[in-house]
Amino acid sequence: MTRGEKLYEGKAKIVYATADPEVYVQDFKDSATAFDGKKRGTIGGKGRMNNAISARLFTLLEERGIATHFLGWESETAMRIHRLDMFPVEFVVRNLAAGSLSKRIGYPEGTALKNPPIVEYYYKDDALGDPLLCMAHLNELQVISPEDLAEATAMAKQANAILVEFFARRGLTLVDCKLEFGKDARGAIRLGDEISPDTCRFWDSETGEKLDKDRFRRDLGGVEDAYAEVLRRIER
Ligand code: UDP
Repeated sequence: MTRGEKLYEGKAKIVYATADPEVYVQDFKDSATAFDGKKRGTIGGKGRMNNAISARLFTLLEERGIATHFLGWESETAMRIHRLDMFPVEFVVRNLAAGSLSKRIGYPEGTALKNPPIVEYYYKDDALGDPLLCMAHLNELQVISPEDLAEATAMAKQANAILVEFFARRGLTLVDCKLEFGKDARGAIRLGDEISPDTCRFWDSETGEKLDKDRFRRDLGGVEDAYAEVLRRIER
């Protein structure tokens, strides 16, 4: 499929138009950022690995009845996707405490939640630094209807449950993940964006070793190897 105009270039991906107005190409980059873009770097092979990991996970979720934007492989680093009108909301689904949740409520990283999963909503707004939103904020902003919020939240929980089980069988604990949703041309909600070690926390179930972007954020070393290990586990 011929790539058309570049529509959007983000920190980790470039989206291109195609001859079909309802089909885009999403190309994954090796560049990585953290802390609102304040930390920048390159993770060798990340584009290829995140494309492969996301393609596999979108395929799994589709097989299990979750509508996604994935249409098929385009190249080693790119996939064809449905054009979606994205909700400007990040859905973070948490199975164990880590990262900002640990800081916010004082649970040490790895603490089990009393009533998992927790779903949090963040406003996708760079100028505001993607703040956490409570229901009152969502009701005020009106950037997603209550019905769409309920449906996407249910999809996020279903996708999380499928992914938790899939990774557990491969010796990985899915600690948390960030999901994004949008509507296709028919008005159906689909899971978009990516599912990768950039957007999920994966810990080795035996050793607790971090196999995700925290290795980059926290300068733990072995970043490329961690992404390669996640890919290796899901390919088996
Ligand atoms: N996350 C993401 N994009 C963001 C913020 C978070 O993909 O802009 C993911 C992150 O990789 C983790 C989960 O969402 O898997 C929860 O992140 P958290 O709120 O703990 O923030 P962090 O500690 O990464 O700043």
